[in-house]
Amino acid sequence: MNQSKIYKLKNELKEVLEKICLDYGERLTGSYKNKQIQEYTKSYFEENGYNVELQDFSCIDWKEQGVELHCNGEALIAKPSYYTKKCQVEAEFVSLKSIEELETSRINNKVALLSGDLTTEQIMPKSFSFYNPEHHQKIISLLEEKKPLAIVTIVDNDTSIFEDGDFDIPSVYVTKEVGEKILNSTGIINLSIKAERVNSTGANVIARLNEDKEKKIVITAHLDTKYGTPGALDNGTGIAVLLLLSKLIKPEMLDYCLEILLLNGEDYYSTPGQMKYMSEYLGEDNSIVLALNCDGIGLKDSKTAIALMELKEGNEFIVKELLIEKKDFEIIEPWVEGDHMLFLMN
Ligand SMILES: [Zn+2]
Repeated sequence: MNQSKIYKLKNELKEVLEKICLDYGERLTGSYKNKQIQEYTKSYFEENGYNVELQDFSCIDWKEQGVELHCNGEALIAKPSYYTKKCQVEAEFVSLKSIEELETSRINNKVALLSGDLTTEQIMPKSFSFYNPEHHQKIISLLEEKKPLAIVTIVDNDTSIFEDGDFDIPSVYVTKEVGEKILNSTGIINLSIKAERVNSTGANVIARLNEDKEKKIVITAHLDTKYGTPGALDNGTGIAVLLLLSKLIKPEMLDYCLEILLLNGEDYYSTPGQMKYMSEYLGEDNSIVLALNCDGIGLKDSKTAIALMELKEGNEFIVKELLIEKKDFEIIEPWVEGDHMLFLMN
């Protein structure tokens, strides 16, 4: 490729990336911005001669308008757990630090204040099927059985312990300092969460070239982001690379069907786009010869890491040969989280 072509491509990459991360920014599955970016990427692929399918699914568009927490008359800072339901409660609290304490607790009509072993990590959503440890399921089922009015979680990192649109007990998270204040107080908590789960839809954007070819190569990245981030590395760069690829790859260059797959829901609690794609296109289908997942690429001052997973014998060698001269790439150990796992499992 000549210098002026490379220059043009770089400019376009910058434009596309700015559009994704600045014009759209946070693009939660089910949200208005998420729908807009579905349309933008669909037209981009179509302009480059691809057939595009929008693969629909239902989901929640979660909206929150803040939390008020008072203890002993003092206003304290709390944040809503992602996807929480709303509430307005005034009740005694009970401090619980382990599954054993939770098992023997009486928290019906009270607020459960969780810390210690119960809040060391994010509790996997009920419907998340890829990874769901037994002690997480146990915590959820005990809480649902004992029915506290609401839950306050004390966390180390500024992040939600519950992130589950199928878990109906309202909850918030607070820092250690706020947690200490509550623990040192006498009994009554006032908690108001303003939040709403609105029924919505989302879609995977699936762009295909050479649809009549028998064997298929799938290249994927995800459209959605987490809360509160424009999703530059996660995964604006992935989307941008795939959009530009669609411009560069022409039908005659490939003896395969090329499927450029923008999955929707990698950062949504129940990964609805991934589940939909898996049920419709994976499993029985063995036409896919290679899947390439792009996520977290383009970190400044860092090499592009490539993990090779379950490649057919001989193919690893081909990839390594291709990369040998490229100093900006490095091969790393397999990474078992992310959308490539869909293909590995199948
Ligand atoms: Zn990601």
